[in-house]
Formats: sequence, structure tokens, C-alpha cells
Amino acid sequence: MRFYRATSFLFPRHYERRIMAICFGAVHLPLLSYIAWQSFHGGWDMWLLGLLLASTLAGTVAAIVAIAALLAPIHRATQLLRAVQTGGHVGMIPAGGDDLVGRLLQGVAQAASETARRMDQLKDAAGRDVLTGLRNRRGFLDAAAGALVSDRPSVIALIDLDHFKRVNDDHGHDRGDQLLTAFSDHLASALRRSDISARWGGEEFVVLFPDTTPRQAREILLRLQSAMEAAAVFSLDGGSLTFSCGLAPVTAYEDLAEATRDADHLLYAAKDAGRNQISSVA
Ligand code: GH3
Ligand code: MG
Ligand code: MG
Repeated sequence: MRFYRATSFLFPRHYERRIMAICFGAVHLPLLSYIAWQSFHGGWDMWLLGLLLASTLAGTVAAIVAIAALLAPIHRATQLLRAVQTGGHVGMIPAGGDDLVGRLLQGVAQAASETARRMDQLKDAAGRDVLTGLRNRRGFLDAAAGALVSDRPSVIALIDLDHFKRVNDDHGHDRGDQLLTAFSDHLASALRRSDISARWGGEEFVVLFPDTTPRQAREILLRLQSAMEAAAVFSLDGGSLTFSCGLAPVTAYEDLAEATRDADHLLYAAKDAGRNQISSVA
């Protein structure tokens, strides 16, 4: 590092040029020594001087070209590292040999894949609800945008657990949390792989059933209701935890907010009608 720092006055911002300048000086040493020797002793051998000049010139050109080519992978590695740091597109990282440049490129490749993995983890965590592990509102909207791309009708369901405040008041907040987690697990196992579920907030959940009719969505939710009635984890004071639900059709992602409002109105109709019900227009 000392020599590196000591020579930094030569092209302070261009490491490649510094190496070339040092090589340039080194390549010229035999020629300079010869000129010094001849100046001292006299009797110039012009043929030898010409030969030395020509070979020094050829050596200088060859050294500059070869050094530029050998430093190119380091230049590429710094560009790739900058792309990793700024989150830009990294692309294919060339493999080097079993040497300094190879190890540098391998380090860049590792840094790039590790950064990409952590970014994916962070992105996933930002879209997940901590308590239930389901998507949160943000994760739901991202996934829904990817699912609502065809013009085939889909269904959105807003689900709200019934009398959940009373559950917390009577059995404690921890039991409430346990029920929210158990409900999320049951919901996830009742759904198909293509269905997108999320915790909408508090004790409210949302499901997007892509390419599905309201009747098919209702059947899936009725099966969930039956599974909950049968599962011991949901039993409360002789009864069982229940939910109310509003179902609304949706086709395009642009209409999702309006369909969510429709589902919300239908959910409150289900509550008004006595809870533990699934309300839909069709
Ligand atoms: P309704 O049948 O009309 O939906 O009645 P409700 O009691 O479920 O509705 P309300 O909106 O009055 O209460 C929702 C309750 O859900 C209140 C709140 O304490 C509880 N809750 C929301 N988030 C959580 C949570 O993360 N953990 C627990 N344990 N309770 C929660
Ligand atoms: Mg609620
Ligand atoms: Mg509720």
C-alpha cells in the first residue's frame, strides 16, 4: 500500500495510467543506460542506437496494449460492483482464472448474488404480515396486479372475523392472536394455489380468486366454514369462531379498489344479516 500511495501523484485518478507510466519508464531504462554510457565513452554506434530505439518503441507499444488488456477485467469488476451497490442490472459476471482477477470477479459474483438474495428477502418481508405470515395489504396488491392480467372474471372476498373484540375481552389478546394465526392457516389450506390471500388489517382478511365465479368462491369459503366448525382450535364457549364475508366480481386491476368497496358493503350486509354468512351480488 505504501508504494501505491507514494506513486499516487502520478495520475491520481487513473490507476491504469500509473501502471503504464511506470512500465514506460522501466521499458526505457536499457535505452537510457546505453545513451548515458555512450555519452560518457563517446564513439556512438548509430546502428545499435537505432536498434535500441526501435525495440524500445516496439516494447512500449506492446506493454501498453498488453497492460490495458490485462487491466480490463478489473475495470469490468469495478463497473459490476457499482451496479451491485446502486441496485442496477448486474448481468453476466465473467469467470476469471485461479488468480487475483479471478478471485476479484468471484468476489463480485458472490456480492451480487448475496445482495440480490437479501433484496428479495427484504421485498418479501415488506409484503408479509408478521403475525400470520400471510401477505399484507401491500403484498396482496402486488400479487393481485400480477394475477389480474387476463380479461377473465375473478372474485374478491373480504372476510371479517365475527365478534372478535369479545374474543379478546373474554379470552385475552394472546388467545386472539392464536386464533388469527389458526384462521390464516385454515384459510391458506382451503384455497387453491392460484388464489391470493392476505391479512387486510386487524381481524380482516382478503382473498382474490382469479378466473373464478362468485359461486365457486362461495363453495370454497363454505368449505372453510365447515372446517372451522370441526376444528377444536376455533371452539369458544361451546360455539366456534365464525366469519362473515362479502364477495364481489372483478376483472381488471384498475377496478380492484371499486370491487373491494363493493365487497366491503356486502360484508356489512352479511354482518347485518346476523354474521357467519357469505354475501354476494350473484
Ligand atoms: P364484528 O363481528 O362486527 O366484526 O365485531 P368485532 O368485534 O370483530 O369488530 P371490531 O372491529 O369492533 O373489533 C375488531 C377487534 O379485533 C378489535 C381488536 O382488538 C381486534 N384485533 C385487531 N387486530 C388484532 C390482533 O392483531 N390481535 C388480536 N388479538 N386482536 C386484534
Ligand atoms: Mg373488523
Ligand atoms: Mg370483526
